[in-house]
Amino acid sequence: EPEMSPTFQLLLGWADSTRRMNVRANADNGADAAKAVEFGAEGIGLCRTEHMFMDPARIPVVRRMILADSKRKREEALAELLPMQRQDFEEIFEAMEGRPVTIRLLDPPLHEFLPDKEELLIEVTTLELTGDAPEKLAEKKQLLDAVKHLEEANPMLGHRGCRLGMTHPEIYAMQAEAIFLAAGQVHAKPEIMVPLVSHVNELKAVKAVIEREAERVQRETGVHVDYTIGTMIEVPRAALTAAAIAEEADFFSFGTNDLTQTTFGFSRDDAEGKFLRQYVDQETLEYNPFVRLDEEGVGRLVEIGAHDGRSVKPELKLGICGEHGGNAKSIHFCETKQLDYVSCSPFRVPAARLAAAQAAIMHQAEKEVQPS
Ligand code: PEP
Ligand code: MG
Repeated sequence: EPEMSPTFQLLLGWADSTRRMNVRANADNGADAAKAVEFGAEGIGLCRTEHMFMDPARIPVVRRMILADSKRKREEALAELLPMQRQDFEEIFEAMEGRPVTIRLLDPPLHEFLPDKEELLIEVTTLELTGDAPEKLAEKKQLLDAVKHLEEANPMLGHRGCRLGMTHPEIYAMQAEAIFLAAGQVHAKPEIMVPLVSHVNELKAVKAVIEREAERVQRETGVHVDYTIGTMIEVPRAALTAAAIAEEADFFSFGTNDLTQTTFGFSRDDAEGKFLRQYVDQETLEYNPFVRLDEEGVGRLVEIGAHDGRSVKPELKLGICGEHGGNAKSIHFCETKQLDYVSCSPFRVPAARLAAAQAAIMHQAEKEVQPS
């Protein structure tokens, strides 16, 4: 944990009065949100809701929801998840005490929710060999077929983010309902974020689902919730079509983890731990693209997205929530592109506050040397 001595607090106070960008944290539950506030986070820039679904107690329901062979069964599972999601969001809103909270709708690598295919295969083979329990065999075979159908060669490039929201709108409807119920309860103003958008039509489709739920919850509870809807910019096509997307968005959050994966064509699950190690400087991580924003690559897409988005909507709020948001040099890059906030893990917040102050001073100095 960072040392939070009175002297360090004083230094952070000076940094806070110097920096221009806000510093938020990535947090997925009430405890992390409270930690984030302790470290000085001014909001949550990214709440990844998939982690909530991975709670072992919920996995069986989540599986039933994903593997359901009818809409009715899926809705039954979702109805079981609704009160849990509502509780998740209430805890986070409470911990944040009115600070902004960006909740991202489900963005699962789908395979992480599925039962293990190898185990299922063994069960099916055993049932076939013993020849008893034919109903059980039929049931297992059906499950195996469903798993095979959802299995993907590249799940990180597959059926995730808003793509799942498009094929299973009832999942996002449940999450939106939980957000509005929780926000109504604790008077929060949620920022709802759509993952993996690559075209404005995807955002439009998901927005329609969210707005319908907002109206329904307001009608049924009589409580009005103020909210905004924005999108992740995390695939090149989104950055390149940012002007059109901005028409439909209140904010953009650059997801530089996926943006790096898709810009470089590096697998984010493999590259860092494997071949990248052979040519990344381990001491400084200077050239690790998953840490450093690079003017020539991902950074250029951030610049295009920010510029084109703001050109149609000057008030568009812009932030970054990938790993880069906690790296001092990347934070400097964000300052040069005039982003509104960076968001990083709670433990990196104090360092990010200092880095944002230094970036503001340096950027000001750079402008004075080279007036534009
Ligand atoms: C990102 O892609 O940069 C991001 C913040 O989302 P995730 O890491 O959850 O994919
Ligand atoms: Mg992402």
